[in-house]
Amino acid sequence: MTEKNIAKTIKIEGIVQGVGFRPFIFTLASRYNLKGEVSNTSSGVLIHIEGAEYNIEKFCKDIPLKSPPLAHITNISDDIGSIKNFSSFSITKSSEQNLKSTLISPDISICQKCLSELFDPENRRYQYPFINCTNCGPRYTIIDNIPYDRPNTSMKHFKMCDKCRIEYDEPTDRRFHAQPNACDKCGPAVILYDIDRNVVPADDYIKETARLLREGNIIAIKGLGGFHLAVDGENKEAVLRLRKRKNREEKPFALMSYDIKTINKYAHTDKKEEELLESSQKPIVLLKKKQNKFIVKEVAPENKYIGVMLPYTPLHYILLQYGFTGLVMTSGNLSEEPIAIDNEEAFERLSNIADYFLMHNRGIYLRSDDSVARITAGTTRIIRRSRGYVPVPVFLERKVPQILACGGELKNTVCLTKDNNAFLSQHIGDMENVAAYDFFRMTIEHMKQILHIEPEIIAHDLHPDYMSTRYAIEQHNKKIIPVQHHHAHIASCMAENNFAGNAIGLSFDGTGYGTDGNIWGGEVLITAYDNFKRAAHLEYLPMPGSTSAIKEPWRMALSYLYDTFKEDIWNLDLPVIRKVGKENARIILEMISKNINSPLTSSLGRLFDGVAAILGIRMNVNFEGQAAMALEMLADDKAVLKSKTKIYDFSWTEDEVRRISVRPIIKGVVSDMGKGADATYISTKFHLTLIRLFSEICKTIRAENELNNVVLSGGVFQNSILLKGIIGELEKNNFKIFTHKNVPANDGGLSLGQAVVAAAIAER
Ligand code: ZN
Ligand code: ZN
Ligand code: FE
Repeated sequence: MTEKNIAKTIKIEGIVQGVGFRPFIFTLASRYNLKGEVSNTSSGVLIHIEGAEYNIEKFCKDIPLKSPPLAHITNISDDIGSIKNFSSFSITKSSEQNLKSTLISPDISICQKCLSELFDPENRRYQYPFINCTNCGPRYTIIDNIPYDRPNTSMKHFKMCDKCRIEYDEPTDRRFHAQPNACDKCGPAVILYDIDRNVVPADDYIKETARLLREGNIIAIKGLGGFHLAVDGENKEAVLRLRKRKNREEKPFALMSYDIKTINKYAHTDKKEEELLESSQKPIVLLKKKQNKFIVKEVAPENKYIGVMLPYTPLHYILLQYGFTGLVMTSGNLSEEPIAIDNEEAFERLSNIADYFLMHNRGIYLRSDDSVARITAGTTRIIRRSRGYVPVPVFLERKVPQILACGGELKNTVCLTKDNNAFLSQHIGDMENVAAYDFFRMTIEHMKQILHIEPEIIAHDLHPDYMSTRYAIEQHNKKIIPVQHHHAHIASCMAENNFAGNAIGLSFDGTGYGTDGNIWGGEVLITAYDNFKRAAHLEYLPMPGSTSAIKEPWRMALSYLYDTFKEDIWNLDLPVIRKVGKENARIILEMISKNINSPLTSSLGRLFDGVAAILGIRMNVNFEGQAAMALEMLADDKAVLKSKTKIYDFSWTEDEVRRISVRPIIKGVVSDMGKGADATYISTKFHLTLIRLFSEICKTIRAENELNNVVLSGGVFQNSILLKGIIGELEKNNFKIFTHKNVPANDGGLSLGQAVVAAAIAER
């Protein structure tokens, strides 16, 4: 049988660079005895293939089915080409000009093959902390320019030995063009220092680190996206010392454990959580704690959950083989500053915290914190999107102009757009110090460079005093578009769900600047990308002392109580008044009645804080959302979901913009307290009340506007009881619901929303 020979050109778009795509094509072509070439282009990978038609068909079919694990194909197109009579199949060297818009892979945790080599005494990379291959290892954090080639990475300082070079050059080798390829003869190495920068004498630095950790020392360990501060999670004294030195009183620490079996000593996992823990991104996963005698409670005080991750670099595996139940691995920083990445920087910034430094000489160009995720209502929800996820873009349904969105003030991220892609940056953090602002600016420049984006539009939050806003308005010759905070939240969720059209948006958080200058946060919006209308909101109440009321929820408690009871407040016997004292309470009420430094807020986050303080659970907080979290932890989630408990009364005004009164709720809470009801009962009832209240509002709006889609966004939806409850109640009422999955519901997702709103406004 004679077979017809043909030629084809195939274009592949997506994340197809630095993920072993060309070697995969090479191997596939040899399998089907096809000739031609593969090269990288500005939009992805270009293949010229020639040979038997039948084989070319099979070749084309296999590309999407068998592509490497880290590849993400967004489009394949093919065309008949002319036969050029190639004698073989080859990988063509790419010219730099061509590569300016190829997508870059995120950092990927060590793969199974490398892991077995790491623990194989016969292998030449046995126990080598920097083993990697085409399918795993550092990417985003070691690149300072494109294309993704070794001279543009921090591996440029290491010259490959002959053995490594052969692997790198051989198309059939699993280390073909693995840019960080190395071994202990030619690659990076670890070294252990004390705080006086003396090398600690040891045969094996990682083994010595394990010993020092066992003794209770705090070790700064250089990882993939920055330094961690590590202590033994079974050592109470060490954990407390770390809290004290890091100036982090109660915010939970994350743990790293060797495997799921070890995690199960102190935390529950279900199948979905195990899959998430073991995914190539290896995020910190929030798991339900078990009663256990291993991990000390000071790791995550007063929390039902604990953040846990599996090792993701070979170095972590080597360290954890020495038998820890859980190592605390928290960001190497003081308080909320950006995580340290440079060795010199670590010595300077961390020497008051760490006792020793386990360092290495592979540079980190861009810091990237550990990502945080959890499973709620059966779905993965990313809470902090960083290492492992960035810079995979959010794929948009429509092409958008090149935009830079500057994000908010807390949990800041930025977002750059180009064509159908929205590139969310890694977690930058709270923009409350110069270091964070520098990191913010550096990230923008870095992303512009490696993504080859020159934004024509800058989007920013409406708040005039945010550092991100000031940055935006300082940019010259750009179109500047302000975006309201809660509109951006809803748009962010719409964008990640590729939703077009109008929706009811429930935008719930702690703080966001409103179009009337008040502080919003309990907002029901009718939302499109290019505009929104406020349909309802929690009634405005004063925040006595402004931002002090965020750090001191007892101030909000008094504000709600005074609004509800006026002078009768003095007849109430409540823990909050006993704890702060009548004198302090009187000062606060005076601030409220005389309107001194008491801006108005409609925030739902503040209502949670206030109720927590009325119940006497939390008067002050050490971190944002702490009181609200404490209230959530008290609620009986099963009772909420079965809606077994009674609810508090609620009501709203029938104005054009409805105002939801919180008085009946506060009255109910105080009355239950008077009857001796416990905090769990009250918290459960409170959660259920909000669930019913907002689903009733959605029904009212649906009846008027024929909108059946509801979009949920804002940091309050990190409360999994509220999220699950509202989803359940809305589903029962046949609403179509859109929630966050890959993009944080909190302010970490804000920049994406700003970008898509700005794109829609610019188009209009
Ligand atoms: Zn590997
Ligand atoms: Zn080598
Ligand atoms: Fe927000």
